[in-house]
Amino acid sequence: MKNRLLFLGPPGAGKGTQASLICKEQSLLHLSTGDLLREEVSAHSDLGKEAESIMNRGELVSDEIVLSIVEKRLSYNKKGWLLDGFPRNLAQAGLLQDLLDKLDQPILAVLLLDIDDDILIKRMLSRGRKDDTELVIRNRLKIYRDITSPLVNHYKKLGILKSVNGSGNVEDVNSQIKAALIETV
Ligand code: AMP
Repeated sequence: MKNRLLFLGPPGAGKGTQASLICKEQSLLHLSTGDLLREEVSAHSDLGKEAESIMNRGELVSDEIVLSIVEKRLSYNKKGWLLDGFPRNLAQAGLLQDLLDKLDQPILAVLLLDIDDDILIKRMLSRGRKDDTELVIRNRLKIYRDITSPLVNHYKKLGILKSVNGSGNVEDVNSQIKAALIETV
């Protein structure tokens, strides 16, 4: 199976859950920028302090911050990696491309996990995260549609995009993802 992966999709689509499963099964490094940022916030680091209020509003933290978090971890890995929640805009996709060119580790597949808005909102409201209030959720969905979703076409044009519907149960979606990642793209 492809071992350098990027997961795309709206907040609440199940990216984190599915990414964790695939990484466990394939021994890939799971890099979730959202999780890594939440760790920085809990640790009250300078970076965490800078990111906290932005995250609580559901907006995007700066490209420099997320790139610095990803860069040091990508440089040290053996079995491959899965990026979850990064890139979130075209500028980040460009920065990532430059970094991966330098490391000689091209992305082998981009998986789009897609799902209807009403299911997303229901799922997110049931998670109880601090940035999961209805107003912030709507803001995060708008940012996804306006700023992140152009990445779908970007990777489609590169010929590495695979799409899976995320509305089924965890096991079904996991099987569909594996089937998609085994096929040649
Ligand atoms: P997530 O767990 O992926 O939903 O991310 C939670 C929050 O972290 C987002 O709403 C953003 O504020 C921030 N975040 C995570 N990844 C990124 C990224 N690649 N670029 C900018 N902000 C991010």
